[in-house]
Amino acid sequence: MTTPFATDLLYIGGQWCAPGGGFIPVEDPSTGESLGQIAAASADDVDRAVAAGRAALEGDWGQMTAVERGRLLMRMSHEVLARAEALAELEARDVGKPLKQARNDVVALARYLEFYAGAADKLHGETIPFQQGYTVYTLREPHGVTGHIIPWNYPMQIIGRSVVAALCVGNAVVLKPAEHASLTSLAFARIAGDCGLPAGALNVVTGTGAEAGAALASHPGINHLSFTGSTGVGVAIQQAAAVNAVPVTLELGGKSPQLVFDDADLEKALPFLVNAGIQNAGQTCSAGSRVLVQRGLYDEVVRRMAERFRSLTVGPALDDADVGPLVSNRQKAMVEAFIEQGHADGLVAAQAAMGDLPPGGAYVPPTLFAGVDPDHPLAQREIFGPCVCIIPFDTEEDAVRIANGTDYGLVAGVWTADGARQMRLARRLRAGQIFLNNYGAAGGVELPFGGVGKSGHGREKGFEALYAFTTLKTVAAHHG
Ligand code: ADP
Repeated sequence: MTTPFATDLLYIGGQWCAPGGGFIPVEDPSTGESLGQIAAASADDVDRAVAAGRAALEGDWGQMTAVERGRLLMRMSHEVLARAEALAELEARDVGKPLKQARNDVVALARYLEFYAGAADKLHGETIPFQQGYTVYTLREPHGVTGHIIPWNYPMQIIGRSVVAALCVGNAVVLKPAEHASLTSLAFARIAGDCGLPAGALNVVTGTGAEAGAALASHPGINHLSFTGSTGVGVAIQQAAAVNAVPVTLELGGKSPQLVFDDADLEKALPFLVNAGIQNAGQTCSAGSRVLVQRGLYDEVVRRMAERFRSLTVGPALDDADVGPLVSNRQKAMVEAFIEQGHADGLVAAQAAMGDLPPGGAYVPPTLFAGVDPDHPLAQREIFGPCVCIIPFDTEEDAVRIANGTDYGLVAGVWTADGARQMRLARRLRAGQIFLNNYGAAGGVELPFGGVGKSGHGREKGFEALYAFTTLKTVAAHHG
C-alpha cells in the first residue's frame, strides 16, 4: 500500500509543513525494515500549532454550531470506514498490530466519530433555582486549545476517545502522537481536512517526547492536556502543566485483575482470561494481566490456559497471527527481562512456540506464569507484553486484598454466578471500570474510562468525556 500523504511533514493550520527538528526513522516491527521517516517537531513548531489552534477558535471553527460540528464528525466517520483497509494496513505495518486487531481499531475510531457526532448538539447547561429576582444558568464551553499526547498501542482508539471528544465540543486540538506510531494520526488529519474540518482545528505535531511532547505539556497557550502513556511520563507531564495551572487528564498504566470464583462459568470466562492478556501482544493499559483463581478451579484454569497459550500463533502483523511483534526492539528487551525472571523463579507454566519469524522483528513468546505470589514483581509491575500471571486465592476477602494490592486501579473483572457477590465486589474493587462476567465490554465507546491511583485520573469515552473537555460557566442574572 502507498500512503496517501507524506509521512514526514507536520500538519499545522491546515497545511502540511516541514519540521524544524529533523526526522525520526520509522521501522516495521514485524521485520525491522525501514518504513521511511516522520517529522520531528521543534518547540517552535509546537508553538505554531498552538497559535493555529487559537486562530481557529477565533475563526471559522469557533463559529461552527454544535449541529455543524456533529455533521462534520459524521462525515469523518463515513470517510474512516471508506478508507478502513488502508488505515488498518498502515497501523499494522507501523506498530506490528495483527491486521484483524488493526481493523477493529478502525471500526472503533469510526464508532467514536459516530457517537460524538450524535452527542455534539446534546450537551447543554442547566438552570439553577436561586433567590428571588435572579435567573441562574450554566454554560458548557470548550476549554480552548487542548493538547493530546498519545502512546503507540492504540493510536486510532485514543484519537477517538480523546481528540474526537475534544473536537465534538469545539476545542482546537494539538495532537502529539508517539514516535513509534504516528502514521494513522497523520492519516486522520488528512481525512479531517478532506471532510472540511476548518484549518487549525486539528494540528498534528509528530516528534519526540523530550522535545515536541515536553514543549506541548509546558506550553502556556494550552488550556487542557490529555495524556495516555506510562506513569512516569504522566507525572512529568502533570508537573509541566502545573506551571501554567492547566487541567490534565491522565490515563496511565494498569495491572488489572480478573477474579475467577469457584462458581464461575469457565467456558465463558476462558477466552477472556487469555485474550485480555495477549490482545495487542499485551500492550494494552487495561490488559487483564493478573488472573486470580479460587482454589477449587485453580488447577483446571492453569491447565486450560496453559493449553491455549501453547497453541497461540505468533507472526508478522500482516499474517494476522494471534500475537504480533511488540512495537520495538526496546520494548522486546524489557519484556524479555520479565520472562527471564519468570524462568529463574520457576513460574513459567506455558509458552507459545515461536516458529520461523523474520529475524529483525520484535517478537517475544506469549508466556503464562502460574503460582505467582501477589507481591512478586511479575504480579506487581506492568509488563506490557503478552504475559499473564495466575495467582491462587482462598476466600473473597483474600481476592479483594490481592486485587486491590497494586499501585494501579484501571479495570477489574469478576467471574462468579453469585449476584450478591457481584454487587459487593463492584463496590469493593478499586478501579475505574468493573466488568461482571465479561471483560472489556467489547471496548464500549459509550462507557466512561479512566483510573484511580497510579492508573491516572479523569475520564474519557462516553458522554463523560464531554464534561472533561468543557469548562462550566455559571451565569447569574439579577433582574429584580
Ligand atoms: P510508553 O512507555 O508507552 O512508550 P510513554 O509514556 O513513554 O509511553 O510515551 C507516551 C507519549 O508521551 C508519547 O507520545 C511520547 O512521545 C510522549 N512523551 C514521552 N516523554 C515525554 C515528556 N517528557 N514530555 C511529554 N511527552 C512525552
